[in-house]
Amino acid sequence: MLERSLQRELSGGFRIRARKTMSTGTPIARGLVPKRLIIPMTQQAGPAAIPVVEVGQSVSKGELIGRPGGQRSAGVHASTSGVISAIQDGPAPTVNGLTTSLCLHLETDGRDEPAPSGKWPGTRDARMDAIRKAGIVGLGGAVFSTAEKLRGDDDCELLILNGAECEPYISCDDMLMREHPLEVVRGALAMMDLAGAESTVFVVETDKPDALRAVREAAAQLGDTRIEFARVPTVYPAGGERQLVEVLTGREIPSGSYPPAAGCICQNVGTAYALDRFIRRGEPLTSRIVTVTGSGVAHAANVEVPIGTPIRDLIEFCGGYRGDVTRLILGGNMMGYALPGDDVPITKAGNCIVAAHSDEVRDSFREWPCIRCGDCADVCPPRLLPQQLLRASAVSDFDQLDALGLNDCIECGCCDVACPSQIALTERFRQAKQARAVASRRAEIAELADKRHRRKLARLAVQTEDVDRQQDDLIAAIRSEDSRAMIEAAVARASRRRDNSETTH
Ligand code: SF4
Ligand code: SF4
Repeated sequence: MLERSLQRELSGGFRIRARKTMSTGTPIARGLVPKRLIIPMTQQAGPAAIPVVEVGQSVSKGELIGRPGGQRSAGVHASTSGVISAIQDGPAPTVNGLTTSLCLHLETDGRDEPAPSGKWPGTRDARMDAIRKAGIVGLGGAVFSTAEKLRGDDDCELLILNGAECEPYISCDDMLMREHPLEVVRGALAMMDLAGAESTVFVVETDKPDALRAVREAAAQLGDTRIEFARVPTVYPAGGERQLVEVLTGREIPSGSYPPAAGCICQNVGTAYALDRFIRRGEPLTSRIVTVTGSGVAHAANVEVPIGTPIRDLIEFCGGYRGDVTRLILGGNMMGYALPGDDVPITKAGNCIVAAHSDEVRDSFREWPCIRCGDCADVCPPRLLPQQLLRASAVSDFDQLDALGLNDCIECGCCDVACPSQIALTERFRQAKQARAVASRRAEIAELADKRHRRKLARLAVQTEDVDRQQDDLIAAIRSEDSRAMIEAAVARASRRRDNSETTH
């Protein structure tokens, strides 16, 4: 198997305490079936899914309960068998934070009765459609529709299978590669064919030798020579898409673009595993591997979790809480966010739960003024200027934020860690992006309203012209010779009728 050499060094980032061995001591745990699942319709990037079941309806495991709400959306399925007990709004964790989504409540029956599975179709278009309906989305965190990503508008030269998993605490991809390498490699080969890629490279950080060995052996077993391997240094955030494309190809992705602009598609190893299960067994995406970790959980582990499992049930499955839990974080401690409680469900985006004690999280939120030291810029992977972004975001100067590349900020949190003034830069940039999106939306709405108003004025002007023209025609008609003669004749007829009538009386 070919080892791919790196074309560049990683830019920015730093070595960080990984804390991953907490959850890698035992195999992936299975068998969790909570009494009730809460399955949000908003689990993927793009439009929410649309419910296709009713309250009181019995469903089987893998049955479609939410159809894709659009081309960029994906289907949602029952994670086990049971009865739909409610359809109502509730909190749904997404990659950008908690949101409110329509949720289907499923009272499970403990039988895990599977729905009949479909066949893997023969044509590329039908396969893409099947992947979308099967609810397969990127499990690395961004939850983009896998079908849309593979379909792509640009030619794909290189498929990058991201197993770098650089975020501290998270080990679900590492364990998946160790325990299911054959499925992961088969899924990657299927992706490569669907995307029309020339080759595939598996990327693994140097601190995961067991995972690398396992996928290498699986690839050797399958004997496909198009697969390569690359080891990247254990530096946070080595697993960012932009970083990977740069170090593997030497090409930079233009600002505001995605990997296809550099001839690459990045997919997570968990997504490859999900795709292989769908192709081989007809199983839609109804579960994912979640790392449950932190000093505040009794038995840290990786667990295969039915989608919709309340986090409380997941923590109980891992032996419950231990000691004083200061914060419950969804995702790792760098890119994740704190949850208000444990009654929210695991969605397709949920790769990790950290039950953290006070020594594992930042406890002081006091900020000091910026001293312009430039440390934030030194660690920024996409080579932005966080200090200037901070100034522009403070006054909501969106033009300046655009010019400084706000949209290229990957919200990695490196600048926060580097900042001696403890300024929560990443949160500022997250908020600035949201404010930017709201402002853009408002500008779009205002522009549409203005267009409508201008169209209405033009319509009214045409109507006024028509009325004026009709009036002019009428007056001209009245004044014409023929009209005058007709009017005179009518007046004469009327006067004759009047004379006759007077004579009769
Ligand atoms: S690291 Fe903090 S103090 Fe230094 S320039 Fe950046 S924002 Fe300012
Ligand atoms: S959060 Fe954004 S600005 Fe800060 S280091 Fe990461 S990419 Fe750069």
